[in-house]
Formats: sequence, C-alpha cells, structure tokens
Amino acid sequence: MGHTKVWADNEKLSKEEKMKLEKDGLDILEDIPRYAEQGFASIPKEEWSLFKWAGLYLQKPKEDGYFMMRVNVPSGILTYEQALELAAIAKDYGRDVIDITTRQAIQFHWLQIENIPDIFDRLKKVGLSSVGACGDIMRTIVGNPLAGIDPKELIDTKDIVDDVYAYFQHNRDFSNLPRKFKISISSNINNAQNAEINCLSFTPATKEIGGESVAGFHVYVGGGLSSKPYLAQELDMFVTPDQVKTVTEVVATIFRDYGYREKRHRARLKFLMADWGPEAFKEKMNEYIKLPSKGKNQFETWNAGYFYGVHPQKQPGFNYVGLNIPVGRLYSAELLELARISKHYGNGEIRTCNSQNVVIPHIADEEVEAFLKEDILDRMNIEPKPFIGSSVSCTGIEYCNLALVETKARMRGIADYLDDHLKVDVPVRIHMVGCPNACGQRQIADIGLQGIKMKNKDKQLVEAFEIYVGGTLTQQAQFNEKLKGKIEASQLKGVLYEFIKYFTEEKQPGENFYTF
Ligand code: SF4
Repeated sequence: MGHTKVWADNEKLSKEEKMKLEKDGLDILEDIPRYAEQGFASIPKEEWSLFKWAGLYLQKPKEDGYFMMRVNVPSGILTYEQALELAAIAKDYGRDVIDITTRQAIQFHWLQIENIPDIFDRLKKVGLSSVGACGDIMRTIVGNPLAGIDPKELIDTKDIVDDVYAYFQHNRDFSNLPRKFKISISSNINNAQNAEINCLSFTPATKEIGGESVAGFHVYVGGGLSSKPYLAQELDMFVTPDQVKTVTEVVATIFRDYGYREKRHRARLKFLMADWGPEAFKEKMNEYIKLPSKGKNQFETWNAGYFYGVHPQKQPGFNYVGLNIPVGRLYSAELLELARISKHYGNGEIRTCNSQNVVIPHIADEEVEAFLKEDILDRMNIEPKPFIGSSVSCTGIEYCNLALVETKARMRGIADYLDDHLKVDVPVRIHMVGCPNACGQRQIADIGLQGIKMKNKDKQLVEAFEIYVGGTLTQQAQFNEKLKGKIEASQLKGVLYEFIKYFTEEKQPGENFYTF
C-alpha cells in the first residue's frame, strides 16, 4: 500500500492540493525550530496553513501570531505525569487555559512560536504529541474512555488504539490525504465513540467462527459532520482485533488514492462513500484484504460519551467516577487538582470523553466516600444539574478564525439559566457551535445551536443562531433538523426557555427530545 501519488498528474487539483505536492505538511516540523529562533515575522504567510500538521492553528486575529495547539490523547487516557505536564504547559505558555475537545483531545491557546520547541520536548518527554492533531492526516483516535475498566466491553481496545496511532503518526505514506481522516476504535457497547460520525469506526461485534463466539469489530465508513453531514455506513465485514491496523491502512489507502482532490469542500471520505455506496467500497477493500461477512452487532444504547457518577469497574472492588467539566474548559490549577485526587485515590489516570468531561478510574470501594468529599467536586460535579451536565461547546470567536459568534461563555450562561428555571426528567443535550463546521458536533444534539451573523431590525449586523432539533445516534441515528428562522443571540436564552418548557409540559414521562 505504498505511496505513489497516483493523483499528482491531475491538472484540476485544488490549490491546497498543489501546495501539498510542493511541500508535505510534516515538513513543517523541520522548519519550526528555525521559525522559533527567528520569530513569528519570519514565517511566510503561505506556510501558515502547514502548521496544522504539527497540531497548530493561528488564533484570531492571525497576524497577532498566537497559536492554538491540539494535543492527541488516544482513547482519551492521560497518565498522572501527562496531566501534570499539560497543566504546566498551559501555565507557562497558554495563559492557564485548557480545553477538552469533542474527540477527547486537549487544546491550548495563546502559544507563541518561540515556545513551540520547548512544548514539543515537554510533550514528548511524557509520551504525548500534537503532530497530526490537525491537517489532512489521521487525527487523534477516539476510543473507549473506559478501555480496560469497562465491565461491559468485549475487548480492551487501548493497545489497539495505541498501535494504530503509532503506525500512522509521522507516517509519510499517509501524511497527504485529501482531507482530515477521523477514526474511532472502541468496544464500548453504548457507542461512547459516536461511531457514525467518523470517517472510519470499529464497533463492538461478535461472530461465530469454528463453533466459537469471537469478539471483534464491525466497520462503519464515511461519516462526518460540517455543513453536509453524513452518517457512516456499515460494511458487511467482521474484523478481528489483530486486523484493525491493516483494515485502517486499507481504508486510508483508498481514501488517499481515490478520495476527491479537486474541490476542497468535497474532499472528505464521506463524499466518496456517498458516491460509491457500501458494496462498492467493500469490493475495493477486497483488492487489499478479504474479510468474512458481518457477525452480531453488540451496540445497545447510546450514552453520548457521558459517564457521570460512581460506577463499578471490571476489576472487583474498584470504581470509576464521571465528572462534569462545564463546556470542557479547565484551568491549570484545576487540572493539577484533578491529577492530585486521581493519584491520591486512584492510579493517577484522568480519562477524557467526547462529551468534554472526564472519568477518574481505579478508586477502591473504601476510598469512594473520601473522594466524593474533595472540594474540586463542587465545581466538577459527579451529578451536575441537567443542562450544564449536557452542554457542549466549540471554541468559538474567542480564539477561532472561522467563528462567527462567541460560544463557550454563552453556552455556559444559557445552561446555568435553564438549570435555575426549568426542571427536566431526561437530559436535553445542547451543543453550540460558532460556524457551520462541527467542532461542537451540533448535528447530533437534541438541540443544536449554530452561530451566524444577521441583520437585526435596525439593519445592524449582529450575532445570531439557527436552531436544530432531534439529533441522536445508534439505533435511531439521525441528524437534527433546522427549525425555521433565526434568533438574535440576545434573545436566545428566552427562546430556549420557552421551547424547552413547552417540551417538558407536552411530552410523555421519560420521552426523549429526539422522539418528541
Ligand atoms: Fe471554530 Fe466553527 Fe470549529 Fe467552532 S465549529 S471551533 S467556530 S471552526
């Protein structure tokens, strides 16, 4: 599955593709030490976008020279030493701010080019990296935040995720994909991985082979969000754990060699899959690897990556505790405190979730009571109020160049207001995003809020939102649908209050938003 750049002679390649042919995104890693010595002004503007391959984006406004850095956290599993280092980097260079993303990654803000080599070194020392966290390359791999401790998992997927991650990171056969390549590998039966919104997902399954039930994976290909969202489609194949890396390589090869490179907005794998369909895609895969047909899907329900409360682990006598990190934002001192309690009561691990929250594992039964009395749990609640506990937000205009509106503080304020004024018997998951991109996964929310700009009645350009309702995954997977009209940001809180109040008054007990 070597790298022959079969697409390189196409004269209609987009300008981004032509640029990538001149310089591979990973080459920026060799230039960064020089730029760090010579300062931000020494970086040619045409090189700015290549920094993505190093996990770096320029913040808004780009000319000021501050970077956002995304750090890969495969499966969302952070060790004690890694958490300490992340907190220290944010304190030394990132104005204390740490965000947990909807793909279990960590983001810093306010970094300057002079700091980057030291940050790279410090991340490397603790086994972390930002390389490939952005750019047209394999992104951080989403996994089961409960890998290895999940009483219901069929397979501990941590080592599989780490193996695939190690194979693809810095792999120049796959550093020039048509666009980003997002995968998930998980055996969590509650679809904590959000399988259907990934380019490629391995999901829990079993199959009778030789009279025995074998645990493995089913395969979904071609999901993705943004302005034209697609649910991934299931292929008729069963994959054993030792085949995951090869199957990933096959799908990445097909994407690399057949993915669309003429129009940037059509370059994601989801468009190729939508055109080919699952049978043709499997047929193409058969040229590289023959796999048996599907077994039995082992998904039960969808938990959207939420694990609040105290739960028994697979290991008798030990528990994992799910905590709320409001809209995924942490400060250095808070991460240090989480690390301290995770070390004192558990094994030092902190695990990040797609819901922008964390799990602290390995707490012995007899330690749970003392753990729950720790002061940090007043802010990072294990049983948060329903709205703040189900709110997700992307970065928004505070740092993001593409954002049209402010998001994180606004989402937090709205959730707090709704918690103070409404009672609900089911979670209402609200996701806010600052533009049609989908870093906050607006499409899978009960209520999705997408920022736009609009002219108000005084003809002034103001921040506003479109409202989408009814997103869900797993058995009844569907994206949410847009309601008519748009709401000025200043009116949003009141409109949501009335809307959810109507829902609570009209719905049947226990009825969810997506079925309402
Ligand atoms: Fe920026 Fe849009 Fe992503 Fe939000 S969804 S972080 S505004 S690109």
